[in-house]
Amino acid sequence: MSATQSLRQTEAQERFDLLDVTSYDVSLDLAASETTFASVTRVEFESRGGATFLDLKPTHLASVRLNDRSLDVDLLDRGRFPLDTVAGHNVLVVEATMPFRNDGEGLHRHVDPVDAKAYVYGMSFMDAAPTIFACFDQPDLKAPYTWHVRAPEDWIVVGNAPATGGDGEWELGPTQPLSTYFVTLVAGPYHLLRSEHDGIPLGLSCRASLADALDADADELFEMTGQCFDEFHRLFGIRYPFGDYHQAFVPEFNAGAMENPGCVTFRDQLVFDTRVTRGLRIQRATTIAHEMAHQWFGNIVTPKWWDDLWLNESFAEYMGNRVTADVTQYDDAWTHVSWSRRQWGLGADQKPSTHPVAGNGAEDALLALQNFDGISYAKGSSILKQLATSLGDEVFVAGAIDHFTRNRFGNATMHDLFASWERAGAGDLSGVTEQWLRTAGADVLRLDRARAVLERRSPAEHPAERTHRLPILRLPDGGETALDVTSDETPLPAETLAGASEATALVIDPREESWGVYVPDATTVRALVDVLPEVTDTRVQAAIWNNLKSGFSVAAIDPDAVVDLLEARLPVEDTEDTLRQTKPWVMGEVVPAASPGALARIHVAARDRLAETQAGDELQLSSFRWVVSTTDDPARLHRWLAGSDLPDGIDLDVDLRWRLLTQLAVLGDTDQATLDTALADEPTVFTQVMHSRAVASLPTPEAKAWAWARFTGEVSVANYELEAAGRGLWRAGHEDVTHPYVQRYVTDLAGIADVHSGWMQAVVAEAYFPASHVDEASLALLRPLADDDALPGAVRRRVVDQLDAAHRKLAVRAAFPKH
Ligand SMILES: [Zn+2]
Repeated sequence: MSATQSLRQTEAQERFDLLDVTSYDVSLDLAASETTFASVTRVEFESRGGATFLDLKPTHLASVRLNDRSLDVDLLDRGRFPLDTVAGHNVLVVEATMPFRNDGEGLHRHVDPVDAKAYVYGMSFMDAAPTIFACFDQPDLKAPYTWHVRAPEDWIVVGNAPATGGDGEWELGPTQPLSTYFVTLVAGPYHLLRSEHDGIPLGLSCRASLADALDADADELFEMTGQCFDEFHRLFGIRYPFGDYHQAFVPEFNAGAMENPGCVTFRDQLVFDTRVTRGLRIQRATTIAHEMAHQWFGNIVTPKWWDDLWLNESFAEYMGNRVTADVTQYDDAWTHVSWSRRQWGLGADQKPSTHPVAGNGAEDALLALQNFDGISYAKGSSILKQLATSLGDEVFVAGAIDHFTRNRFGNATMHDLFASWERAGAGDLSGVTEQWLRTAGADVLRLDRARAVLERRSPAEHPAERTHRLPILRLPDGGETALDVTSDETPLPAETLAGASEATALVIDPREESWGVYVPDATTVRALVDVLPEVTDTRVQAAIWNNLKSGFSVAAIDPDAVVDLLEARLPVEDTEDTLRQTKPWVMGEVVPAASPGALARIHVAARDRLAETQAGDELQLSSFRWVVSTTDDPARLHRWLAGSDLPDGIDLDVDLRWRLLTQLAVLGDTDQATLDTALADEPTVFTQVMHSRAVASLPTPEAKAWAWARFTGEVSVANYELEAAGRGLWRAGHEDVTHPYVQRYVTDLAGIADVHSGWMQAVVAEAYFPASHVDEASLALLRPLADDDALPGAVRRRVVDQLDAAHRKLAVRAAFPKH
């Protein structure tokens, strides 16, 4: 994409005041070309009369006719076409050629390496609709849509309304009134399953090459969908209003999922064709429930502008977790949330880019995209959970129902929601609102045993007076005392410390009922070495590790003390090990800051835990992954790769094979030719991505150059491979070969805006940041980027946050120097 102008809130307000959009009628021809498609849009709207503009980002604009008058197509400027509307009814017809994209936005077109079949899906969120059709692209200009789609004859088309037709000609709609960002089409030779629940037609689809895996889990997915519908209907008394509910698993999707009414899209890594952990199954379950929650929070009532995106995400996150735990087989969903989401939120809340949950100040659409972070999801969810507790669930839900009823198929702001809660009997919410929702940052709560107080400090840049109600759990005896934290020094009740010794651990907020950076005292950290192995409640285990991670993040815990605890009881109960989980934190933060030998000690701990587990058990898989990631013995990796010496119950599936290959690459005990052959033997989307990460993980100049060519766009690859190469590039121990790329990052970063757009721009800026070079010389090179006005705002924000992360790592090393 060439540079386009991001819509500003003030412009959206002016256009909203001018126009009422009546309908969209869109014809797409997806059959004519592999690189572009024809798009004809007819928009009808009422206007108060005057100048405005239309959004469109075509590869070629053939014609624009407003009220039967042809306009000069050369007036298109960086994604905008100026219009002079007449007062009253207007009809606009735009004929354009649009690009198929490979970055997960607009109409993404993917060719499956398994069988060469092509698949298309639409992602209009949050400003990509104009690369599909001409539109007034803002959330508060809703209209019904009708679609006419020409597609290859063997394709199936699914969208925001039930599709009719076939044999290459499809009709959809008219839909309910939709924001432009909800529009999707899922078209291709997809494998399709249908069911029905309580009068709602249900669908599931995925690429043909994943058909067996989807079939295997279809019962679970349909059952869970039905359970969640029942619960949302019970809670709100408002029926799902968008007709069919189709869940499409689509390739190379950037987010976890997108809540398009009638046709939710998910990343198809959530169709499991290898053995996965319970953690990942819970993540899929909460994602399904999250998108269903959006059908109410977001789709029936939509935020007027992106500064209120918490009305979507915080609610969907909270309701998704809650409903999953309450009505599906995954009743431990909240424990998984502790492992996977809490530090994501707390981390974001301590970064320079922290922002309030509500009213995040997004001035334009692209900047708002950066607020889809741990604050809008995890922190917002935590605060809503507290609010539901303090208001009482009846008032909390009644306010939501009032909000849906008054603003049905329209838009609203947070003030509308607060008014609904007040009508429902919530009383004065201004205190909670001001301190928790409108003020950024997290309190640091530090336990000081000698003075018998819990200290509370709000961030200097974001002063606040937040009250916390939370228990302190005493271990090993299990005694619990409730604490109301209303000032900067809260005395601990006498019973908290009565009889406490050096062997007593004090855990702050063991069920995570409040929100803060909890810092345990040094005695607790030492005592946990004996206490932690005896803790059986996984909820409390996760909370203890969150106390430790929080204390570590503010340089209050010695990395060697963390290693002592990992040795005492490796937290394999956090079964998943994707980016935000415990294992990546240990490998990326703790080990590099700890004394030499830490990795070997953790490896022994992993083998010990593995030895305790049962064949085929969840914890066996989790333990074995720790063993693989911590080993420095290539001979053992080679044996496992050959299928020998594997523990009984661990199968050498494609996921494990590539984990072994990646670890061999990190250790420098394989080469690119071997990795290329492994990919050629089994080319899938998954293996392409793993190959990309593994090659970039090789400790050679050639491998790092191979990765860098993807960053600069010299080699263009699809989004997942692009990110994976960046994540593989910066490995601890590879500093000699990665060193030149610290300067290259500084030099090349400005250019990425020309080759990577939208969602991927910021992802790339982060994935290729020199995270392993935590030294003053490197930071001196990188620091000026924080003030470089030439960088897009989203890119600069990621750089500022990554620099902050590097400074935190330095602070830990300065506080606890190792030789
Ligand atoms: Zn969401």
